[in-house]
Amino acid sequence: MLKDDFCQRPGLEFTTSLKPTNVKMSKEKRVCVIGAGPSGMSVLYHFNKLKEQGKQIPEIVCFDRQSDWGGLWKYSWETGIDQFGEPVHGSMYQGLWSNVPKEAIEYPDYTFEDHFRKAIPSFQPREVLYDYLKGRWTKGNLRHWIRFNHVVRQVTYDDDTDDFSVVVKSLVEDKDLPVQKYDYLIVASGHFSVPNVPFFPGIEQFPGRVMHSHDFRNAYQFQGQTLLVAGSSSSAQDIAIQNLKCGAKKIICCYKTRPMGFKWPPEITERPLLTKIESKTVHFRDGTTADVDAIILCTGYLFHFPFLEERLRLKAKNILYPAGMYKNVLWTEAGNNKFFYIGMQNQYYTFTMFDAQAKWTVNCITGELKLPDQEAMKKDLEKWIAK
Ligand SMILES: Cc1cc2nc3c(=O)[nH]c(=O)nc-3n(C[C@H](O)[C@H](O)[C@H](O)COP(=O)(O)OP(=O)(O)OC[C@H]3O[C@@H](n4cnc5c(N)ncnc54)[C@H](O)[C@@H]3O)c2cc1C
Repeated sequence: MLKDDFCQRPGLEFTTSLKPTNVKMSKEKRVCVIGAGPSGMSVLYHFNKLKEQGKQIPEIVCFDRQSDWGGLWKYSWETGIDQFGEPVHGSMYQGLWSNVPKEAIEYPDYTFEDHFRKAIPSFQPREVLYDYLKGRWTKGNLRHWIRFNHVVRQVTYDDDTDDFSVVVKSLVEDKDLPVQKYDYLIVASGHFSVPNVPFFPGIEQFPGRVMHSHDFRNAYQFQGQTLLVAGSSSSAQDIAIQNLKCGAKKIICCYKTRPMGFKWPPEITERPLLTKIESKTVHFRDGTTADVDAIILCTGYLFHFPFLEERLRLKAKNILYPAGMYKNVLWTEAGNNKFFYIGMQNQYYTFTMFDAQAKWTVNCITGELKLPDQEAMKKDLEKWIAK
């Protein structure tokens, strides 16, 4: 653990009225990054790249409430609440294989072949991808910017001083640190951690296990059982297959809008949405029923930013272009073009998309990239939302 004396240092309360478009970068500018997952790490990576080129960069602090970098890729066996009483961030499971070919998520300046020194197949298990990510982050000197086991509790923007006040709790010390001021704020806290849990009539009486995919770690506990998997997204696909591999007897997946429609093995079937549950019997919209031993809700996640003041808060569903963000990155509703989100879209591309967003953000902060006026940005984002 790093001792956080940086928070006590005098002279760090810095304010400015400069806009990013005419910024002359000086050491005193302060940037706060929330989250050291792939999105936040890409921000650090691109700042570091500039530093290695001899360019002046702002002072950067990255907070992560976990004990190590990687975000969701830092696999945790824990579920529910962690040792500090914080909600567990992790949603990944032990046997996860990437559902994205490595070619779609490969960094152009650090390829899988660079990392592993040999060609590897397109689809890789969780550990291999994490190893790859860590390779890129370790190559750059990024770790010193991160305060692990620090959870950001509150972020507010002050119109008069044109900066952000940030309240952070040191989890190890179990105390809130003095308020810190930052000129720029980057939210890279992910959006696959807070489960969306719909209600189905009778679920409260169901005698078996009910869990959300957020808490799914491995499938061994379901060996020999008949399962209901509610949902038709990538989690549902993957968790159904995981369970089959680990010895579940039968898996019924149910969908709200349309079936996944794969050529499933005979043990996996699809039905329309469940309407009610009577003891072990689940009823589906098409009038059919089935007896199941456990229910796994693969019903998605909520965008949840309780630490942000209302006007800074992205309210979105998992779509390709949530409202309010120019280029899907810069928050236009408040924060004077100095508040950014990374990785908040539905993720078809992941690491590469985060990286492009991070590079764009860094260019914006250093003044390399000139922003158009508010009206032009609004028009641009409306165009993309319509698309
Ligand atoms: C089950 C599952 C499987 C997936 N499989 C794949 C896959 O196969 N391939 C792929 O490319 N992508 C996959 N993804 C997508 C995944 O979202 C991205 O790969 C990536 O992890 C997103 O990175 P991120 O940095 O935006 O968010 P995260 O990885 O979620 O990281 C966010 C970080 O922010 C920190 N944080 C959050 N709130 C705070 C706070 N208040 N204060 C301090 N720190 C905070 C968290 O501790 C975390 O470290 C999967 C996602 C899930 C849920």
